[in-house]
Amino acid sequence: MSAKHITNKTALVTGASRGIGAGISKILAGAGYNLILVCKKNETTLKKIASDIHSHLDTEVLTLVGDVSDEYFVNEIKTSARMIFGQVDVLVNNAGIWQSGLVTETSLDTWNELVKTNLTGTFLMCRGIAPMMIEKKSGSIINISSIWGVHGASCESAYSATKGGVNAFTQALAMELAPSGIRVNAIAPGVIDTEMNSSYTKDELQDLQERIPLGRIGTPKDIGRTILSIINSPYMTGQIITVDGGFLQ
Ligand code: NAP
Repeated sequence: MSAKHITNKTALVTGASRGIGAGISKILAGAGYNLILVCKKNETTLKKIASDIHSHLDTEVLTLVGDVSDEYFVNEIKTSARMIFGQVDVLVNNAGIWQSGLVTETSLDTWNELVKTNLTGTFLMCRGIAPMMIEKKSGSIINISSIWGVHGASCESAYSATKGGVNAFTQALAMELAPSGIRVNAIAPGVIDTEMNSSYTKDELQDLQERIPLGRIGTPKDIGRTILSIINSPYMTGQIITVDGGFLQ
C-alpha cells in the first residue's frame, strides 16, 4: 500500500488470513476502518483478502506477516502502525491455534506452542499497542477467547487453559487501562465454521449443531457483528461476551 496520510480510524486484526479474522476484517472495513492485517505465514491469502477489501471499499490496508508471539515482530507491527497510520483505535487479538487430545498424551511442545500463540501473543500485542492508545486516551481492545476458556472442554485442557488465561488477562487489563480511556473486552465464540474445525467429522459437526439452540453453527460474520457492537458500546469494559448460539454444555 502507499504510505499516504490517513485521517480515518484504524483497526489492527491478527489472524486475518482466513476464518474469523478475515470475517472481522471485512466487517471493520465496511464500517470505515483502515486496516492492519496480520497472519503468521499465509501471505498470499492475506494479500488477496487485503486487495479484495481495498478494491471494494477503498480502505487502506497494510499487511504484515510474522508470529505474534515473537516480540521483535510485534515491535515491527507497532513501528509500522505508527509510521503509516499514526494510531491504532481498535486492536483485535484473534490469532490462535487449537489442539485436542488427552492431557496424558499432550506433549510439552504442544502445551508450549498453545500458550505461546494464544496467550503470550495476546499479551505482547496488548503491551505493544496499548501505549499508542494511552497517548490518545482512547481505544478498544478485543481479545478472541473461546467458550472452552469459560467452561473448559474435555480433551481440550491445554487449549481451554490458554483461553481461560486470555479471559482473566482481559478482565485484569480492563481495570488497568480504564483510567486511560481504553476498553478491553473478549469475545468467547462457540463453534464457528472455519478451517480450525476441519478435523471434525460430518457426524461430530452434526452432534455439535444439535447442541446449539439457535440451530446452526456460527459464522465469522457473527463474530464480526459482535466486534462492532463492542466498539459501539462506550460504557462496556472487562466483559467476556459469549457468542455461541446458546450452546448447551
Ligand atoms: P483459523 O481459521 O485456523 O485461522 C487462524 C488465524 O490465526 C490464521 O490467520 C493464522 O495465520 C493466524 N495465526 C495462527 N498462529 C499465529 C501466530 N503465531 N502469529 C500470527 N498469526 C497466527 O482459526 P479461526 O477458527 O478463524 O479462529 C480464530 C480465533 O478464534 C482463534 O483465536 C480461535 O482460538 C478462536 N476460536 C475459534 C473457534 C472456532 O470454532 N473456529 C471457536 C472459539 C474460538 P496463518 O494463516 O498465516 O497460519
